Amino acid sequence: MPNAVRMHDEQAAFLSLEALVWRGAPVCPHCGESSRLGRLSGLSTPIGMWKCYACRKPFTVRHGTIFQNSHVPMHVWLQALYLLTATGERVSSQRLGQILGVSVRTAWHLKTKISAGLESAKELPGSWLGESAMKRVLREPFPDSPAPLQPGQAVCKARYERFLAATAGAAQHLDDTIFLAALNKLLRSRGAGADPASEMLEQQLELSLFDESAGGEGGADDEGLR
Ligand SMILES: [Zn+2]
Repeated sequence: MPNAVRMHDEQAAFLSLEALVWRGAPVCPHCGESSRLGRLSGLSTPIGMWKCYACRKPFTVRHGTIFQNSHVPMHVWLQALYLLTATGERVSSQRLGQILGVSVRTAWHLKTKISAGLESAKELPGSWLGESAMKRVLREPFPDSPAPLQPGQAVCKARYERFLAATAGAAQHLDDTIFLAALNKLLRSRGAGADPASEMLEQQLELSLFDESAGGEGGADDEGLR
């Protein structure tokens, strides 16, 4: 489906972000190269990874955004943002965690980062929505696959089904425009001039949140987070 953001799994989320940010013309965030670039697709390569053959550095479309260095998968970020914006409802951390299959602490962390990112976003030109490559959000059932689902895919499917049920049950009309505007703001909310110290602090905070929920008894809370 062209011009629609998809968020049922990690691959779909990255392809959607790439279309939104690069519009078919990827650019190396390190050196600005736009032609000698290649998508990395090894079995152990994280989804969304590219390599620049000019400066030899890897990058993803998340570089320079609040999503950079996050241990939370991109499709989980997108689903969280959708639930928090497009439904027009107040969603508690508990409820968000239940839907996304993450701990309450992780859900709280997502909410906090999203609201801080939206507040710090620069004012955007009013016309961007008209020019955006993405006009709406695709909310169709998880795609059928001829092969049995891998464990990671099964987790994605279960999460996406909870997400669809939650959006279908939203009291108000879903507004994709609000979600797209918020996503666009978040993608621009932290530019290249980010303060390295606060960035490192944020990273540590996020790591500590995940260390806690990934090990020991709390582990079952965070299904499918890499
Ligand atoms: Zn480069």
